[in-house]
Amino acid sequence: MEPFLTSTCLQEVKQKGLNIERLTMDGDSTTFTRVKRSLFPKLKKSNDKNHIVKNFGNELYKLKSKHKSLSNNNIAHIQKCFSYGISQNKGSTHGIKTSLDALPFHMFNEHSSCSATWCKPLRDENYRQTHILQGTELRKDFQNVIHGYTNESMLEILAHVQSTNANENMNHMVARKAPKTVTYSESESLDFRVSAAVAQKNEGRQYILQVNETHGLSPGHYTHRKCSVLDERRSNLAVKQKSVSMKRRRSELKAERMSKNFIDEVYEGKTYETAVGVSDIEIEHIEDIPPCPAECSETPHAYGQDDVIVFDLETTGLGTTSSIVQIAALHVSSGQQLNLFVKPKCGYIPTTASNITGLEFHGGVLYQHCKEVTSVAASEALLAFKRWLEAFGNANKESTKCGNNKNSHEKP
Ligand SMILES: [Zn+2]
Repeated sequence: MEPFLTSTCLQEVKQKGLNIERLTMDGDSTTFTRVKRSLFPKLKKSNDKNHIVKNFGNELYKLKSKHKSLSNNNIAHIQKCFSYGISQNKGSTHGIKTSLDALPFHMFNEHSSCSATWCKPLRDENYRQTHILQGTELRKDFQNVIHGYTNESMLEILAHVQSTNANENMNHMVARKAPKTVTYSESESLDFRVSAAVAQKNEGRQYILQVNETHGLSPGHYTHRKCSVLDERRSNLAVKQKSVSMKRRRSELKAERMSKNFIDEVYEGKTYETAVGVSDIEIEHIEDIPPCPAECSETPHAYGQDDVIVFDLETTGLGTTSSIVQIAALHVSSGQQLNLFVKPKCGYIPTTASNITGLEFHGGVLYQHCKEVTSVAASEALLAFKRWLEAFGNANKESTKCGNNKNSHEKP
């Protein structure tokens, strides 16, 4: 928020005889200090909840480089718990402190300090917690982050957080009528454009009918109908966006986006992050991904039956970017077998895939038909598979690998 712009606007508000008790804003203290000193001495400040939750998440993302087990999904879940802890204890510093203090224990599957109002494992013994953290060092670092939010001054801020979503929505309406790409500030139409946005925010699209009537331009049938349809759509959307199913869908889409970004980063490296343009990674250090090999031209009868190895992969889907979750192989003549369970790189297994493979992934643990199985990272599993295959090769000829769908999604 620009200090000058805000204080000028609020000065006009004061001249009209109105008083302002509280400002909801981000961490910008210059604007607040200026307005408090010059206009409203009793002014109080509320921080924007979204900014606080985002900053909290950023602190957790910093821990990721040190603790590989802290996944993006885990961080998103912790942010959600943090946000609930604040919202459910609005105005109560004690309530917020209790829930935030319990959060590290809850995430490490210890629920004695949790409250039954929000902790599902405490309410239901059979409930299996999806996001569980592990590691003494991670616990210590996570607790340190939480301590930054449980001191007296921070708790006071958290107890009075507000949302600036309404402001963002207003900004969007103004930007639709006065796009930033056009210099309307030099035009006399700017006042009308901003006024139209304010009227739309307060009255809905009905303001168009009122403006028409005031100026003797009786609005016709189509204008009436269009305004009613747009207003109805807006109110329906507002109700729908608050529904549980819509919130769940938003969370699913976010997880899909994060998974896609992760896969893209594997192929392309980081394309967007702070100061990515000035990073000192030299081009020769970026590993080239070899092109797909041409179709296999060798015929199976070129090899003896002794060399035949049959393998099968279970994956999270049928796409070439799906994650591997299981590698199984059999050396036909000797009967030697290999069976490796793999932690999915994307961090989750879709229900459609679980129904077929019987494999589920919760809290960093892989389950087969509801029983926990030992799983390793994809890179580790592929290396083990490679070593296993090499044991059957000899100097002159390679063994034949037979795989189901091995030229599509099951190509290792
Ligand atoms: Zn708990």
